[in-house]
Amino acid sequence: MKAAIILQPKQIEVQELPLPEPAPGEVLVRVMASGICGTDVHIFQGEYLGSYPIIPGHEFAGVIEQAGRAVTRFKVGDRVAVEPNLPCDNCVNCLNNRQNFCLNWQAVGVTRPGGMAQYVCVPEKAVFDIGELPFEQGAFMEPLSCVLHGLERLDLKVAARVLLLGAGPIGLLLLQGLRLRGAAELVVVDKNPDRASLAQSLGADRSLTNLDEIERDAFDAVVDATGAVAVMSRTLDFTRPGGKILLFGVPPAGQIMSVEAFPIFHKGLTILSSYTSLRNSYQALGLLQSEGIRVDGLISHRLPLEELQRGIESIEKGREPVYKVMILPNG
Ligand SMILES: [Zn+2]
Ligand SMILES: [Zn+2]
Repeated sequence: MKAAIILQPKQIEVQELPLPEPAPGEVLVRVMASGICGTDVHIFQGEYLGSYPIIPGHEFAGVIEQAGRAVTRFKVGDRVAVEPNLPCDNCVNCLNNRQNFCLNWQAVGVTRPGGMAQYVCVPEKAVFDIGELPFEQGAFMEPLSCVLHGLERLDLKVAARVLLLGAGPIGLLLLQGLRLRGAAELVVVDKNPDRASLAQSLGADRSLTNLDEIERDAFDAVVDATGAVAVMSRTLDFTRPGGKILLFGVPPAGQIMSVEAFPIFHKGLTILSSYTSLRNSYQALGLLQSEGIRVDGLISHRLPLEELQRGIESIEKGREPVYKVMILPNG
């Protein structure tokens, strides 16, 4: 099979590898669609958890090609998506329902081979039946799970007034999720006009390209989906007294976010973050299947495995309006 391997930071090679053999309790998945995520960009740049060499890819869907011994829920031909996080279920965090902070955490496409290959072996417990859902939509199960975890953390009040900063692929999922969770008014800001107008077409009441046009002290909830510390630090300005802030975007490690401390106290603000997901895959699939959340318009590129590096670099540079880049390892 063909697999794209990050040999070391900034170096990707497509190699011919032997077909992996599923261990007991594992299935072999033929990968049909595999989304590039910001995490893959970080692994490519050498800034993240991964060890090298690694086959990346943790947002993917495909078909069961072979079921290992002791697999009970799946058979050859089933259409599936994969939840990449593999908690041990046996550490102090797992035992306290904080599997996203598992002390022995493993993840498909980060610590073990991922979906940027024609085939990959994954444990049965990480596999979800997608039924008739198109593979490209199934590949959104993982990012959408993370978004749903963030929305659960935020616990929005019905009819809230919400400001969302950032309309990349994750921002556009958050936008739709915030509406489902009861936002009555949704204002979106993205400095890229194409992204701002896509936000409008996906249901924003107002979309703007300049933060300085936003009303201060006005929103029940402010959600950052940029991960840019300069933007994150502005969230406090726009939140009304008693309001909540969700810092969802992933900032670069090592950067300091400076904010004036007094308004946090004086406005009684609640500042939240969100880390990966916590058993949100079923919810994510339910929303994709019911079209409660739409993702087809979020795919901007479809590329073969050989062009993974180009796909990662186009996200890195952010010149053109890039949304989700899908790699199609089996054409
Ligand atoms: Zn991801
Ligand atoms: Zn654990």
